[in-house]
Amino acid sequence: MAPADPGRSAEPAPVRDVPPGEEAEEVRRFWGRLGLPGLVDVHTHFMPERVLRKVWDYFDALGELTGGVEWPITYREEEAERTARLREFGVRAFTAMLYPHKPGMATWLNGWAADFARRTPDCLHTATLYPERGVEAYVREAVEAGARVFKAHVQVGAYDPADELLDQAWGLLAEAGIPVVIHCGSGPAPGKHTGPEPIARVLARHPRLRLIVAHMGMPEHEEFLGLAERYGEVRLDTTMVFTDFTERLMPFPRHALPRLAGLGDRVLLGSDFPNIPYPYVHQLHALERLGLGDAWLRRVCHDNAAALFALGVRPTGAASGP
Ligand SMILES: [Zn+2]
Repeated sequence: MAPADPGRSAEPAPVRDVPPGEEAEEVRRFWGRLGLPGLVDVHTHFMPERVLRKVWDYFDALGELTGGVEWPITYREEEAERTARLREFGVRAFTAMLYPHKPGMATWLNGWAADFARRTPDCLHTATLYPERGVEAYVREAVEAGARVFKAHVQVGAYDPADELLDQAWGLLAEAGIPVVIHCGSGPAPGKHTGPEPIARVLARHPRLRLIVAHMGMPEHEEFLGLAERYGEVRLDTTMVFTDFTERLMPFPRHALPRLAGLGDRVLLGSDFPNIPYPYVHQLHALERLGLGDAWLRRVCHDNAAALFALGVRPTGAASGP
């Protein structure tokens, strides 16, 4: 991890506490004040129940990928309650981020995610991949089945994203213009292939690939900002970044805020719901207190993703085809 940034002197303004019963109202007030039809959250986790339980057990046990940090899950609820909660918040569209940690798992996860998208019309049909034989075929199948977004997890999967086995899959996704949310930064804990270097190699081969760097690539925020500045299709999601929790561990370097403002059309709201150790609304307040202005917030919390996924301006529930 980089040493503490000397330019970062002032502590961010504290975020207000919102009683749980009033959270939905506060979230709606946030986007209502901006004149938005709701939020689009590109980084929410839905997965087969027993996989999600394992993830929660992992956080409970302070698994090493959590960086050994206390990580109480705020929304440990049944699936129906979790989707209902996002709708209460006014999240128009969200994703089902799921990912394999070993070979032979991705097609099963993709089958589950296709079914989840069918019964959850406000979820963007999500799929995943892993460097293994047959990956190109199942990625193509998922795309033909209507997948709108992919998730890749370099840290949990412990693979090199520039692995030759993935080359054709990346090419296919680049050509189809389908975004891939990729956890590739070395936070909260580094993996064998995390960091900007392997991603730079992927982008050198596939410069049009629509990578959405999860967590803004923390703690290598600046290197990943650099990749987004270099490649026009690279985007960053805000997942957990700027929150009190994350600022204590891997603070966003304040001197890089102007670069973040400059990339205002390529920053997307992500939250990590439901696996977050604080209320959802805190992520929104954390973005607001950056002081980058309402126009920036509008783009980040809705417009950029609405354009990327061609969501139109119709509210959730209305048929919103591409
Ligand atoms: Zn996540």
